[in-house]
Amino acid sequence: MLLDTRAMRHLAAEDWKVLAAVEVGTKNHELVPTTLIERLSRLKGGASGVHRSISTLAKANLIGRMKEAKYDGYRLTYGGLDYLALHSHSQRKHVYSVGSRIGVGKESDIMIVADDTGTQLVLKIHRLGRISFRTVKSNRDYLKKNKTGSWMHLSCLAAMKEFAFMQALEAECFPVPHPIANSRHTIVMALVDAPPLRQVSAVPDPAALYAELIGLILRLAQHGLIHGDFNEFNVLIKESRATDPETGEEVVTMTPVLIDFPQMVSMDHLNAEMYFDRDVHCVKHFFERRFHFVPMRPGPFFKDARKTVGRDGARRLDAAVEASGFTKKMAKELDAAIRQQEAAALAKREARGGATSGNDSSGENEDEDDEGDEDEDEDEAEDSPETEGGLEDGKSKGG
Ligand code: ADP
Ligand code: MG
Repeated sequence: MLLDTRAMRHLAAEDWKVLAAVEVGTKNHELVPTTLIERLSRLKGGASGVHRSISTLAKANLIGRMKEAKYDGYRLTYGGLDYLALHSHSQRKHVYSVGSRIGVGKESDIMIVADDTGTQLVLKIHRLGRISFRTVKSNRDYLKKNKTGSWMHLSCLAAMKEFAFMQALEAECFPVPHPIANSRHTIVMALVDAPPLRQVSAVPDPAALYAELIGLILRLAQHGLIHGDFNEFNVLIKESRATDPETGEEVVTMTPVLIDFPQMVSMDHLNAEMYFDRDVHCVKHFFERRFHFVPMRPGPFFKDARKTVGRDGARRLDAAVEASGFTKKMAKELDAAIRQQEAAALAKREARGGATSGNDSSGENEDEDDEGDEDEDEDEAEDSPETEGGLEDGKSKGG
């Protein structure tokens, strides 16, 4: 589904209140009864004002009625959740306008946005549950069984986790985009002007870049962490050029920036070794395939990395993130969903007759579509044109 901000500027303060009321009601009701929406929105005008807003919101597809419902009520749509998040970012002056979409991951949309000084930023919108919503039965079952575990809720957890890790990693000087704000299922972060490693066809010194990437994996381990999806899509490569003052030759330096953290796991995780090995394997496999570079030494191995956790006073970031409010319980809930998504992706790839390893980089086919599975967006997805435009109206009217 795309983000369509056109209706945003037309919403009045009352509409925002009613939308927020539906969101609150959604925490306990799959379908929020209209009477509850009335009570939660606390509009001065009373019920008639609420009904007017409900109709405005429903027309813009920000809330939806359920067919065959036993009572009159509404649920929040992904569009509604997008609006609430954007509204909050705009009120906090982090986002002024929304530009084009630069990436569609399997579980996220990446948009260029700008703040009110015109600085370009990235808005990452988490959309868990997007892959194979219609085709993979187990996904559906999971949703049904988990009443509170709706994909929206899980997407919010994913964003919260990713934001907490980005803050913790930045504090330890890991190369990550500067995290700016988190609201619901979204994150605002700095835009890194650099392509993913996947798009880099040649590097001056593959051995050096390889060592740097493995070094990052080891330093994460020292802080108690495994990235869990360390592949050529999730490493951006910054290139800088300088002239060597002695030889006069141009020197190209390539610096990696790590992104995409919702699946981070602790070095204490039950399957930590598997995740660690998989991250290492991904880097090796890519370097061999793309740069024909094969390292001299085997490893690094999990058992050695395990011994370095906390060494030299390295702060345990798995613990730090938990302290930041992303609790063990939340982590468990999200973990279960992410693993299921992985299984679904794997099942789908196998059904297509593709490769069978865990990460998305594992496809042997180099030309595999980067864009993911856009055609299989979830049921409620409705394609609408991408739009630009200030969010200022929403900001000034918002209550
Ligand atoms: P997903 O979970 O869907 O893989 P990512 O966080 O990996 O989402 O982002 C998807 C793509 O969007 C990345 O491969 C990268 O090309 C681009 N991207 C994400 N964040 C940034 C950023 N801060 N700056 C520049 N490009 C980014
Ligand atoms: Mg990614």
